[in-house]
Amino acid sequence: MGKNKTMDRRDFLKLGAGLTGVAVVAGCAPSLIFRGGAVSSDNGLGFEDVPFVDLHRHLEAGLSPEMVATLAQRNKVEKILKYKSDEALPLDPQDPESIQEYFRQIIPTFKTPKGFRNFLSSLSVPLSVIKSLEDLRDVTRWQIQEQALKGCVHLEFRGSPYTYKAAVDGEPSYEEVIGAIHDGIRSMYEKSGLSATYIACFSKQKADQYAEGVVDVVAKMHTSDFPLGLDLAGVEPGFPPSKFRDVIAPVREAGAPITIHAGEQSRPPRFEKAPASFISEAIDVGARRIGHGTSLISDPRLMDYCRDKGVHVETCPVSNDLLGYMPVSQHPLRQFLDHGISVSVGTDDPLSFGSESVRELLIRNADALRISPEDVVRMTQYGVEAAFVSDKRRQELRKKIGVVS
Ligand SMILES: [Zn+2]
Repeated sequence: MGKNKTMDRRDFLKLGAGLTGVAVVAGCAPSLIFRGGAVSSDNGLGFEDVPFVDLHRHLEAGLSPEMVATLAQRNKVEKILKYKSDEALPLDPQDPESIQEYFRQIIPTFKTPKGFRNFLSSLSVPLSVIKSLEDLRDVTRWQIQEQALKGCVHLEFRGSPYTYKAAVDGEPSYEEVIGAIHDGIRSMYEKSGLSATYIACFSKQKADQYAEGVVDVVAKMHTSDFPLGLDLAGVEPGFPPSKFRDVIAPVREAGAPITIHAGEQSRPPRFEKAPASFISEAIDVGARRIGHGTSLISDPRLMDYCRDKGVHVETCPVSNDLLGYMPVSQHPLRQFLDHGISVSVGTDDPLSFGSESVRELLIRNADALRISPEDVVRMTQYGVEAAFVSDKRRQELRKKIGVVS
């Protein structure tokens, strides 16, 4: 497989021809969708039979190697520069196979002491090829389309607008950056009925520099018809969510939905570095959803609270494993489901973690996670109820997954 494996617009148009089918199929009851799954439960329902949502996917890390190569060719990018340094990585950004090989080599290093830095470095691969607002719009459209073809009924991207502003030539404003992503989202909905939302992030450790600008643009651009979310990502130890109560106040006041990465960056059984108290602080400062939230398992009373109040947990079990926090087999997803907590599974950074979609991730890890296709049906319902969408869109999604007729 060489450069001829990359996609051009004609390929996407071809893919688009099948989208009506996706929309129609996704309108069926879950048990009628995508028959013939490889992994089946006792009643014959397979993982490939059920639609899914992905509420936790970082936009740049969701590009496939083919998408990276397509943009590298379009923008004549021949070299990837390492994150915050000029050291060249040994890969040809115009060759999907070379990109895949780079990720095959770097993924096992994520668990080493310098792993998190390597993980951040790996994100420079997609960021080095996004050069224009058109590219941002296209990577949004391409991913919505690709994921819909795999059975995704609603996709939520997140990412830092200041990162994209720095990647794109010409210093666009935050409004222009978010406008380009929104154009991609809007066009896929208008043309093909596909659903997606963008969540603007800032990294907690960079809050002094960027929080105010991101908060202001979210408060300004959010509307109930076209929601724009806010996420607090980045380093957890030393940055408890309560620290950000005042800075995110304009987003709360604007009614824009908030999710916060919390309770991720620590290890069982004690979860010292990102304890369950970070999750309760995140809820306290306005988060309706929690990113990762693995340390929730250490606080049964908080688990009861999340269940009773409908706080949704966007779990990312493969990410937690590959970054060395816990093996997939120890992930508490099963316990969360058994406890009745609203929960879903996200891909987080699929390019860096090697899972192209939630479906592929679940098929590969179903035994370790002890989940069935019926659990996925339930998680899709939870995800639709927790999605950052308008009331009208939520009703459409309920119909798509067969919850209402
Ligand atoms: Zn994340």
